[in-house]
Amino acid sequence: KATPEVILFKKEHASRLLPSVSTDDNKASRGRSLILGGSHDYPGAGILAARGALRAGSGYVMLAQKDLVVSSLENPDFLVKDLRGSSLSDLNFDAVLIGPGFGVNDYTAELILELKTKNFPNVVLDADALTTCVDFKLFPLPASWIVTPHTGELARCLKVSVHEVTKDRLAAIKKARQLFQCVVLLKGHGTLITQGQEIFRIASGNAALAKSGTGDVLAGMITAFRAQGLKPLEAALLGAYVHGATANLWVQSHKDALSMIASDVIDSIPRILWRLRQ
Ligand code: AMP
Ligand code: MG
Repeated sequence: KATPEVILFKKEHASRLLPSVSTDDNKASRGRSLILGGSHDYPGAGILAARGALRAGSGYVMLAQKDLVVSSLENPDFLVKDLRGSSLSDLNFDAVLIGPGFGVNDYTAELILELKTKNFPNVVLDADALTTCVDFKLFPLPASWIVTPHTGELARCLKVSVHEVTKDRLAAIKKARQLFQCVVLLKGHGTLITQGQEIFRIASGNAALAKSGTGDVLAGMITAFRAQGLKPLEAALLGAYVHGATANLWVQSHKDALSMIASDVIDSIPRILWRLRQ
């Protein structure tokens, strides 16, 4: 079989995917994002994802955890929900992210299985959700779902060494696609995305993003684009492009690639969206 073509995904492609804004918009029509992220050990991951989702245009964001550790008073921009005593079917959402800092455990597996059984189409899986899928043998996933592994997470899913993934990222993402059978986004220098045919390489991004929490922001952004009606492949491409572009802008304006932190990614999103609309 011939090697699929690698397509460089650039600014002009991202511009075409931007969700439109209308005077008739309201918070529900702008897409409701549910973030299943964060836990006692990693409270920040869910917050970063939720804030990323808000900045990427989601009209309504809810962060839900089983034993809620995040305070609404400190996070007035999104809703928080304790899942003790309630289930996913009690909640209204257009897209859901599960994983960042959420824990690798029975509960995470239960939620993934519930979304899978109900055939809920708009799901993004990251971080702990991916490890949970390995441990609980939950692969393959519905075709409209998106997974966002970094190199280490993908190596764990494929049961190969990290070196095996880094030495040939194209081969790795093809294997990943076979395993997951959904949209795959392989993070790192030159983020790769595929839905089975072409492989896209994101033109934006740099090593300023090598900082904890930046991946959580990315997952939240992709979820927000999905909630706003973008197709799975489109949401992954636009999310990764905008995310990478914040790092390019950071290095350009600060002349430094060490100091950027995950909150700076969130705060740079408006500027990138503005540029994409020009
Ligand atoms: P995570 O490992 O889940 O926190 O995600 C890290 C994010 O930073 C991903 O979006 C990566 O693509 C990005 N990133 C990390 N290191 C680099 C690098 N050296 N060059 C470009 N992007 C990077
Ligand atoms: Mg991560």
